[in-house]
Amino acid sequence: MKKFCLECNKVFYPTENNYIGYPFKGGYWDNALGRYNFSESPPSSRIFHSRHCMDSFISEHADILTPIFNEIKERENNHDNREN
Ligand SMILES: [Zn+2]
Repeated sequence: MKKFCLECNKVFYPTENNYIGYPFKGGYWDNALGRYNFSESPPSSRIFHSRHCMDSFISEHADILTPIFNEIKERENNHDNREN
């Protein structure tokens, strides 16, 4: 999948079977399936070519993103509370 980094506009190619692009949650060995799962981050959700670009973007837009991050966490907490 051809993508342009949101921060620096560099072209990169994340796929199901590579480690390219961020945000990226690392893979793991699946014993039941007997194979390695490369990532839980679908290529379409990897929007930065490097970790550095992701960090720069988040810190540059902290005024917008911090309230969103906090709200996500709050909703998660509320959801957990309802389940308990
Ligand atoms: Zn970049």
